[in-house]
Amino acid sequence: AKEGGRNSYQLYTAEMNVVAMDRLLTQNYLRSALQQDELELFYQLQFDSISGQVVGIEALLRWNHPELGYVSPAYFIPMAEEIGIIVDIDRWVLRQACRQRKLWQQQGLEDVRISVNISALHFRHDLIKSIQLALKETGLDPRLLTLEVTEGCLIEDIEQASKTLTRANELGIKNSIDDFGTGFSALSYLTQLPFDTLKIDASFVRKLPFDQQECQIVATIIAMAQGLNLGIVAEGVETREQVDFLTKKGCSIMQGYLYCKPANADNISTQLLELYGT
Ligand code: C2E
Ligand code: CA
Ligand code: CA
Ligand code: CA
Repeated sequence: AKEGGRNSYQLYTAEMNVVAMDRLLTQNYLRSALQQDELELFYQLQFDSISGQVVGIEALLRWNHPELGYVSPAYFIPMAEEIGIIVDIDRWVLRQACRQRKLWQQQGLEDVRISVNISALHFRHDLIKSIQLALKETGLDPRLLTLEVTEGCLIEDIEQASKTLTRANELGIKNSIDDFGTGFSALSYLTQLPFDTLKIDASFVRKLPFDQQECQIVATIIAMAQGLNLGIVAEGVETREQVDFLTKKGCSIMQGYLYCKPANADNISTQLLELYGT
């Protein structure tokens, strides 16, 4: 038994080393990804379930590495934060998303905002300046831009976050709370920070409409958001039943595979053309 224990210990450390090496390798790859043009934006359309219209577009980052293939942002974004290149990545994303949205505007798409995910770390590195630079470089109207931030991360410096988000509002940009309800942050942040929209996290939506407790939570989030005059977007919508439940409760803006899978700009352009083209 003792020997078995030692063996499994050795196996464990060996595995750990592989994981550590793997991380190190990936980190080095990630550093060069920006220069190597390996980053790409995908887009996902948001629909109003009642009117059937497109009401928003979220930009979702993809890293297409020649050897690793597509690496999930859920994996490499935290890594980019760790090794201190997230702000550079954010800036690239902002510029690219604004450029693409401007292009769609020139092709006739009006009044639909593009949502960009922003790392909380960026709030400490003059986010407003990054945004203004992207707007200036691309000529995009700030009224076509929405920032998505996760609530929990802003707690550290709430005053700074509030100032930045207020400034964004003054420029005509809207602010969205991402992944609402998944963190441990207090509800008071909802009123302390100038948010315009709340996104119901996919983990809640997934269990609708068959889980009684989950239904209650979602209904309560919607009622609260309405009371606070926030727009509401449901994430991860995959079934007709989910749409019916959410719409009945007062949330009609849907983002999810049922309506649109994240896809590259060309693909989304085609979908927009089919919807609105001549
Ligand atoms: P998120 O902001 O919550 O984005 C929604 C995620 O749900 C996306 O995953 C999207 O592809 C996925 N999704 C959309 N509809 C459905 C559905 O119907 N079913 C299921 N199962 N999933 C759906 P993705 O693209 O892998 O992104 C993961 C996370 O990475 C994002 O979560 C966001 O937090 C982060 N992220 C993505 N792009 C960026 C970026 O440009 N900058 C930063 N800082 N973070 C980003
Ligand atoms: Ca998001
Ligand atoms: Ca989200
Ligand atoms: Ca989410």
